[in-house]
Amino acid sequence: MASHEGGCHCGAIRYRIEEPAKFSSLCHCRSCQRSSGTPVSAFVGVFEVQFEETKGCRAIYLSSPGVRRGFCQICGTSLTFAGENWPSEIHIYTATLDDPEAFAPKVHTMMDDNITWFHTADDLPRLGSFAAKPKD
Ligand SMILES: [Zn+2]
Ligand SMILES: [Zn+2]
Repeated sequence: MASHEGGCHCGAIRYRIEEPAKFSSLCHCRSCQRSSGTPVSAFVGVFEVQFEETKGCRAIYLSSPGVRRGFCQICGTSLTFAGENWPSEIHIYTATLDDPEAFAPKVHTMMDDNITWFHTADDLPRLGSFAAKPKD
């Protein structure tokens, strides 16, 4: 299976993920907005066993009950998301991959929290919540 590498802005943290991805999505939820400082966050989801930290060690922030967000404590880059609702999965911030083109998003999630001035001109499905787990 193909693998993909990525890391934070300063280079202190590096990681590798193995294909296949479970999903590739755009999350508009308020928690992602606040913790990343951006209106939308692109994620690629894999099982934890497909993820390996190859350099450094992420700091973990508990953004809500059962949710662990991994980031670089030097440069602040948001890197990973893991939640009890997605057991044994880890969700990678797609834009931190060396080749973010590798996983084009297939769906918008949590559109109920979308900031009204934020629009994208694509034809992807738009879900109000996480209801249906997006699949490739
Ligand atoms: Zn860093
Ligand atoms: Zn989110």
